[in-house]
Amino acid sequence: MGTPLDTRTAQAEEVLDRLYEEYPDTTISLTYSNRLELLIAVMLSAQCTDERVNKVTAELFAKYDSAEDYADADQEELAEDINSITYYNNKAKYIRSACADILEKHDGEVPDTMSELTELAGVGRKTANVVLQHGHDIVEGIVVDTHVQRLSRRLGLTEEEYPEKIETDLMPVVPETDWQQFTHLFISHGRAVCDARNPDCDACALEDICPSSKLDHDVDLASGDEW
Ligand code: SF4
Repeated sequence: MGTPLDTRTAQAEEVLDRLYEEYPDTTISLTYSNRLELLIAVMLSAQCTDERVNKVTAELFAKYDSAEDYADADQEELAEDINSITYYNNKAKYIRSACADILEKHDGEVPDTMSELTELAGVGRKTANVVLQHGHDIVEGIVVDTHVQRLSRRLGLTEEEYPEKIETDLMPVVPETDWQQFTHLFISHGRAVCDARNPDCDACALEDICPSSKLDHDVDLASGDEW
């Protein structure tokens, strides 16, 4: 019986409480050992699985060490090094350009403000939020990836479609202390239960408060289509 709570704030808090119970230890699943590696890994992860990115970066990070190494890299060689990743040619260009800027404008260090990060090639608000949160311990917003986008809509927390508008919608209803974990909890639940094509509503800890539950609703609020 999927009936959401009366307000989006109450719904967000109840969802969070239950997901904390389900996934007590969830965190970022990309592998990195410094801020530059984190930035590169997040740039590579756009529309690609973290699992694949981790396989590629295991060798990439052994070969390239500094912003200078990436900035000076040959475009074709770097693209070849990441060629099992989606959009590898463009990502190689972005990485070289972003690292050239890091070298020239930031003394080789990954910057720690939203505006400086989003000025780097290929770095949008989502990537910047991840780097700020996990690289600098600065939580300025909520990372909205494809799982957060889908689950927030399914659970009635937003009707917006695009990540930046969804983030703006979520920030007032999610307690600020939960902004970082909110993303990891939603990613975990999206991967384990509420996947894009065939969510397992029978097994879902949120079923009774989910207005998209297949058990008693006809429409997937993420897409607006019938199940
Ligand atoms: S698995 Fe089903 S009930 Fe659970 S959040 Fe997703 S759509 Fe809702």
